[in-house]
Amino acid sequence: MEEKTYDVIIIGAGPAGLTAGLYAARGGLSALAIERITPGGQLAQTDKVENYPGFPQGAEGWQLAYDMQMQAESFGLEIATDDIVSVDFTAEPKKLVAASGNVYYARSVVIASGARPRKLGTPGEGELAGKGVSYCATCDGNFFRGKDVAVVGGGNTAAGDAIYLARICSKVYLVHRRDELRATKVYHDRLAETGNVEFVWNSVSQRIEPNENGTVGALVVTDKNTGVERTLDCSAVFVAVGTEPNTDFLAGAVELDEAGYVVSDESGRTSAPGVFAAGDVRTKALRQVVTAVSDGAQAAENAAEYLAL
Ligand code: NAP
Repeated sequence: MEEKTYDVIIIGAGPAGLTAGLYAARGGLSALAIERITPGGQLAQTDKVENYPGFPQGAEGWQLAYDMQMQAESFGLEIATDDIVSVDFTAEPKKLVAASGNVYYARSVVIASGARPRKLGTPGEGELAGKGVSYCATCDGNFFRGKDVAVVGGGNTAAGDAIYLARICSKVYLVHRRDELRATKVYHDRLAETGNVEFVWNSVSQRIEPNENGTVGALVVTDKNTGVERTLDCSAVFVAVGTEPNTDFLAGAVELDEAGYVVSDESGRTSAPGVFAAGDVRTKALRQVVTAVSDGAQAAENAAEYLAL
């Protein structure tokens, strides 16, 4: 059976990938987005998005992601569930191989594979993952309703997680390695309004300890300035210490920077002809939903231009 060759295949169906799909399909290209889990990416795991224009009350992350998917599909974007593990961008058409054994072909490719949570690297983290150690507060927070929990990190994700968890948990320790948050100011004000978030400043995580049931019982931290160790009794540790790009499958196929992000400018062009990058996976200054969708549009338009040449 002859394999179908798409005009454009989009790797990843978060906001960047779905917008690339919307623009490509609406522009008359045959377009397939390949997503390894479910469409929506990190957006679908976000409680509330307040900085995406057009939603004066804020948008629920999963709803916004779902609506993006519906909109793109209404113009003909196809979505497949598969995990791309290797690519050949020198082949004509370009070839994408999935863990399932499926092989996909396309005349152009948009890499929109996003980023994943960075690990903390603390003893106990791996053993207790899924037993109280979590990387997604909106996914797992409800399991710890009424309990004491800890959030590690000082960026927008950590601050947003702490605010979300403060609504359902009895106490939230916000553990940060410095004495001020990196998070945007609006989060500082919200955190100040919560009565049950305790900031644990200048503190480095030493280990996560199990309780007698083999689930998280405590996070042990050390004060960087005094060296004093403190045990924070808690049922869960939410790790929010940044992200790493999902680019392992690209080894050697396009230029990556030292942190593993796909080197690209606003046009989305990469070092491989006909291959574009969009969203959190590419080198950029501001990683937000609004910049991801902008990237998706740019990448699809430039893919269309490439195909027309
Ligand atoms: P981030 O901005 O990179 O912040 C990571 C935080 O974790 C920093 O505070 C950092 O500390 C800390 N950290 C890093 N490695 C650590 C380690 N090994 N141990 C302890 N702490 C560590 O990551 P993010 O908060 O996940 O955000 C990722 C991107 O998404 C950002 O561009 C962010 O603006 C965006 N985002 C936006 C929103 C929004 O606009 N509503 C919401 C969520 C995320 P230092 O501060 O000391 O470096």
